[in-house]
Amino acid sequence: MKKGDLEGMNFESGRGLLKSIRGDIGNNAEVQDVPSDEELELINGYTRKKFSKEDLYVFTVVLCDNDVDRDYQRFPVETLTSLEKMFVGKSGIFDHNPTAHNQTARIFSCSTKSVDGVVTATGDQYFRLEARAYIPKGRQFDDVIYAIESGIKKEVSVGCSVAFEKCSVCGEEMGKCGHKKGNIYNGKLCFGELIDPIDAYEWSFVAVPAQREAGVIKSYCQEDGRSVSMEEILKSISACEGLNLDSAQTEKLWDYIEKLKKSAADGAVYRNELKAAVRRYSAVIQPDISEKTVEKIMSGLSVRELSELKNSYEKKASGILGKCRPQLSSSKNTKEKNSNKEFKI
Ligand SMILES: [Zn+2]
Repeated sequence: MKKGDLEGMNFESGRGLLKSIRGDIGNNAEVQDVPSDEELELINGYTRKKFSKEDLYVFTVVLCDNDVDRDYQRFPVETLTSLEKMFVGKSGIFDHNPTAHNQTARIFSCSTKSVDGVVTATGDQYFRLEARAYIPKGRQFDDVIYAIESGIKKEVSVGCSVAFEKCSVCGEEMGKCGHKKGNIYNGKLCFGELIDPIDAYEWSFVAVPAQREAGVIKSYCQEDGRSVSMEEILKSISACEGLNLDSAQTEKLWDYIEKLKKSAADGAVYRNELKAAVRRYSAVIQPDISEKTVEKIMSGLSVRELSELKNSYEKKASGILGKCRPQLSSSKNTKEKNSNKEFKI
């Protein structure tokens, strides 16, 4: 599966760090372009007139992911999850043409999904934020639908703001610790973790000329087009055949093993974080269930199941604790911390 070609630029503003991202319109065949019953219900929550399935065109947009981008920044999975709610209801604009005010698509659902078998540059499981959007079918929209289906409109420009950018090496605020993004420190790549999202903004379609599209595909091939693929090496190993590797292949195999080791370590960290969260929320929403029982339940769950449980508990706990929003309070703290620093001599 191809990952979204995400790129961006960013700048400071009154509302945290603005980040603009290049998203991708999903074009895999499994995705339905007719809404399901549930989707139709969600869509009709946004429209004045009731639409039927035949009136609507729906599609998937990959908004952002947890991989390190060209600016050496990334959204950790927690940020993607928080952004889900913020993107729902946001409209997408097609063109800078005079009738553009009518030509909008709207996101009606949004969720963070893991893509099996894909890891990020840092060796983590790859996650991405996928939105479902709709366009009403009809004269002025048919050109746009055609442009999406034919791949002419394949990319979208997405914007959001976050309160904090954390250094991946030391955990301090990026830019204040002396580490430089893109440099390697003790074998660890320095990049900014974008955390505590504040808001998501409208998005727009980017027309991609066919030529550029072809260029992108070509560079992908060149990157992987070395003499022997990892699959071939692994096939030989699993068949217990003797292996004759040259130095480039050995290096490739070693990189692969290192990535797997790191991925396993990160997986363990992520699992522990999820368990800690479930423990916390469980104490709030079901105080009569002992920690021991909760521990026993969690021990049999996969990471995905733990994540599901955590999300469900989180919703229930926030219902009990009232409408307190941890990311808002933390963004406020950050600002206060910053302004103090500015006035210190
Ligand atoms: Zn640092």
